[in-house]
Amino acid sequence: MKYLVTTNQAVIAKLLGISVKIRHHNRMKQKPTLIFNNRFFNELKADPILGNHCREVNEAFYSLVTPQNPPEPKWVSVSANCAESLGLSTEQITSKPFQNWLSGRSNMQESQSYAMCYGGHQFGHWAGQLGDGRAINIGEIVHQQQTTALQLKGAGLTPYSRNGDGLAVLRSSIREYICSEAMYHLGIATTRALSLMTSGEQVLRDMFYDGHPEMEPGAILCRTSPSFIRFGHFEIFAARGDLDNLKTLADFTLRHHFPHLLHHPADLDAKKYKMFFKEVCQSSLKLILDWMRVGFVHGVMNTDNMSILGLTIDFGPYGWLDHYDPNWTPNTTDFSHRRYSYQQQPMVAQWNLSRLANALFPLIKDADFLMKVLNEFAEDYQQGWLEMMRSKLGLVHDDAESDEDLVLQLMHLLEQVETDWTLFFRHLADIDGDISKTSSSGDDLNNMQDCFYHFDDLPQDYLQQFKDWLNKYKKRAGSQQLLDKDRRINMNRINPKYIFRNYLAQMAIEKAHDGDYSMIEELMETLQNPYEEQPERENFSQKRPEWARTKPGCSTLSCSS
Ligand code: AMP
Ligand code: MG
Repeated sequence: MKYLVTTNQAVIAKLLGISVKIRHHNRMKQKPTLIFNNRFFNELKADPILGNHCREVNEAFYSLVTPQNPPEPKWVSVSANCAESLGLSTEQITSKPFQNWLSGRSNMQESQSYAMCYGGHQFGHWAGQLGDGRAINIGEIVHQQQTTALQLKGAGLTPYSRNGDGLAVLRSSIREYICSEAMYHLGIATTRALSLMTSGEQVLRDMFYDGHPEMEPGAILCRTSPSFIRFGHFEIFAARGDLDNLKTLADFTLRHHFPHLLHHPADLDAKKYKMFFKEVCQSSLKLILDWMRVGFVHGVMNTDNMSILGLTIDFGPYGWLDHYDPNWTPNTTDFSHRRYSYQQQPMVAQWNLSRLANALFPLIKDADFLMKVLNEFAEDYQQGWLEMMRSKLGLVHDDAESDEDLVLQLMHLLEQVETDWTLFFRHLADIDGDISKTSSSGDDLNNMQDCFYHFDDLPQDYLQQFKDWLNKYKKRAGSQQLLDKDRRINMNRINPKYIFRNYLAQMAIEKAHDGDYSMIEELMETLQNPYEEQPERENFSQKRPEWARTKPGCSTLSCSS
């Protein structure tokens, strides 16, 4: 038996030959020890040129850079939940060594700082080399056998900064910080956010690219991910005909992120790359279905913003559907073409995957295979979308064909008058899906008033169509071998009550600009349980207020960040 003792007692115990274990009274005050496993840095080739000056970087995966020293870093927030996933406490994160590390002031143990080289197709056109223009990796750490890469956003210039300053403003950093954690708690694949600080520096931004630049508070976000590799990482090597490094990158990605595909002998290389591409298609498909389910619009689905692991990455001018409008995009840069609107997301994902297919072709060398997988993406999406919509409606038992009409009729109805995408499904869960109560659809409609933006103005014929649809729905819901309360539970499990609504983001940002970070904390807490009822936080579930309808930042955003 080992006694738990203090350090002083241990010295005496040792003299007496007694076996003891030291009790650490105050772990928080101990020097933090992280386990580093800098895979990307150690296993892949670095740019031999040093310095942060802008340049074309060839035949290398990253450039060594030093984050800039921010004048006066101050805490805005720490995600305790993200920290915990790394085996760290908020106390540890807010300690001086961590603050210095996460603000870019200094290294921590074996941390390594570097910016990655990648390219990408932006708005449908090849943009050449892009890279981490204002993101700096600070190392990969291990907790419970999981390796996580940490990246600072807004920590200064890199060789990939092009015309930018390598900085980030508080406004956009709050949006990324809260939204990535909200996405995680919705159960949707995403990069995460660990911490947010102001830098003490003022940053010049023309928020709407309309010739009105203003100084804004600078910020540094620390985000985390199993990997920050994007489609564009593969595209840059393929575009330059650098097939050796393309293969090195593919092998690295498979070794660390798709190890189950490595069972094929080396002479079947093409086979493992084929399986790799197929899996990227599958994870991207799942991601888009999840976004469509919760009404998320990414806003800039360029191939450099597509994660090879199917994660939501780069939270820029994104937004959440308030009322259902399939053509909606928050991104002002995309207003004329709406390439990245809500309903375009599956098509754009497929197009982006076709760019990845092109990049991987030299390794796979089978165009028919790639075409087949890309075509399957479209078919699988159609099927997956119907399944997703059926589950949003709580229809579990197999009647997919006849449900399709019900779903399509609903989409048509939702599009006709402004109906809140989130509240609609929560209210629908509450109505009685009981065939014997079919006649009460008028009451049901009244109970659902809140999900319409202009209930009192709804035309009679619309109300009638809506009641007819509700009747059909109630009949269908009542016909399944499922207790109505279980239908409700199933629906509320996948239809969130709390999303990071655009106007909530704007309110939290305005308060933060006044030095009040309380709403950030309240949102972080509420959005940890997006599917639960939280009566004390009812205000965060309200549909968009009228003042936010056209307010910049709520309904419109630019890439300026
Ligand atoms: P994004 O639209 O955020 O995906 O960015 C596209 C490219 O521009 C990426 O290579 C970014 O790193 C780069 N970039 C965006 N903003 C800045 C900035 N302020 N400074 C340097 N590079 C930037
Ligand atoms: Mg990006």
